[in-house]
Amino acid sequence: MSNAENDSSLTCGQCRKSGTFTAPVSVILLFAPGMEKPYPLIPAEDYRVCGSCDAVFTLINRAAEAHPTTRGAGPWTRAIVVFTDGHGVDVKAKRQQQAMALA
Ligand SMILES: [Zn+2]
Repeated sequence: MSNAENDSSLTCGQCRKSGTFTAPVSVILLFAPGMEKPYPLIPAEDYRVCGSCDAVFTLINRAAEAHPTTRGAGPWTRAIVVFTDGHGVDVKAKRQQQAMALA
């Protein structure tokens, strides 16, 4: 992972927007067919997500790839991203239609 996301300017690497970032991620609960229970991934560093594009998918993909348990469980189907301010997003891994709901 690069540290660009921790830059104080916080410009999205995908859509180049700034000012639409979430609070830092506190935990990602990852659901995959190969796992009986959702697996909690905790980012090692502050990671804020751009709210203007689908950057959250990139975050989840990276997090899933970074951990041997989730990497071995196959493609994730759902993820719940919880932020340090208590908000969360429920992300379904349908690459066609991005079903995201603010909790
Ligand atoms: Zn963005």
